[in-house]
Amino acid sequence: MKVERIEVFLRSEKLVREFWMSLAPIPGAMEIIVRLTTDDGVVGIAQCHGMPQEPVAEILTKAMPAIVIGRDPFDYERIWDEMFTLCHYPGWKTKGWSRASIMTAIAGIDIALWDLMGKATGKSVAKLLGSYRDELPAYATGGYYEDGKDIAGLVDEVGVYVDEDGYDAVKLKVGREVGEDLRRVEAVRNAYPEIDIMLDANQGWDVPTAIAAAKGLELMDIRWYEEPVHWYDQVEGLRRIVENTTLPVASGEQEMTRHMCRDMIERSGVRIMQFDATKAGGITEWRKVAAHAEMHDVMMAPHHDPQIHIHCVAGVRNGLILESFPNPDRDPAWQDMYVGVEPIVNSRMTVPQGPGLGYDLNWELVERICSRHAGEPV
Ligand SMILES: [Mg+2]
Repeated sequence: MKVERIEVFLRSEKLVREFWMSLAPIPGAMEIIVRLTTDDGVVGIAQCHGMPQEPVAEILTKAMPAIVIGRDPFDYERIWDEMFTLCHYPGWKTKGWSRASIMTAIAGIDIALWDLMGKATGKSVAKLLGSYRDELPAYATGGYYEDGKDIAGLVDEVGVYVDEDGYDAVKLKVGREVGEDLRRVEAVRNAYPEIDIMLDANQGWDVPTAIAAAKGLELMDIRWYEEPVHWYDQVEGLRRIVENTTLPVASGEQEMTRHMCRDMIERSGVRIMQFDATKAGGITEWRKVAAHAEMHDVMMAPHHDPQIHIHCVAGVRNGLILESFPNPDRDPAWQDMYVGVEPIVNSRMTVPQGPGLGYDLNWELVERICSRHAGEPV
């Protein structure tokens, strides 16, 4: 089996309204879809996520064919290393591609290779990775800052996730004015004393503010405290948070490599690692991060994309939980783009048993709403 063709589809749509994190709005419904076709007609799919999307598509269609076309997907480690060299002179230095864009493009190819390996063997990716669990917990992410939404509106929103959708764990946004954030979280805690509550500051605070917020939040039975400090202080800053709160600290969704995750795990003391296989490096890099995390008693709870990350989390011993976005206004792809994906019922998702990733895309929709890129080797 040899890879014969790389195609890329970009989805970029405005959401029906703005959902704000601490410092920035969600940029839209953004999907980079990669489709690999082999000489024996097997199709491998992937989704990856990077902004801006165009450089990622350019790397996938201009640089990746020279590395990937004609290759056996089972040589994935060798292929990965060759793709990784683009982060040095061939791509970063001479083409001006950012390393973040290159790592996202690697993710797209690598995940599609794993889908191909699963389809070639008739096994799910989770089975190839070790098949440690058959079912996983999932939580609902919501609680965004929205124009006109007050604390009562926030509690109502959580009520939909808990009472209608059946979730027993919900993640809320924090990271703005500390007093108001404490009131928001306290209101949800009082209304729903039985659920798990996670908090995500999306790197909104400096260290003293994040510590001050943590002191108030410690009284509210919080399951984890995610990305509390600004982007530039992700090791030493996080360490100071860890040393000054009893809240378990989570981070890692912005890290690009296993080396960055190594430093975060060893030096900051995070308890939950959120490395995102769709954003950087793919499944091959993710499982190395997971192995390193396991040796430090750190659990894996990857950012976004449960339809892909379920295989990763199910495959390793230190897999914890999946993130999901049940609000269709926030994540239209979860509602309209997947075919055969396992539903999340009562906060649980069954690990797919079908070959590869175990789901397909709604190609009619993809062809209709996405722009298509297919390039030649440079
Ligand atoms: Mg997050």
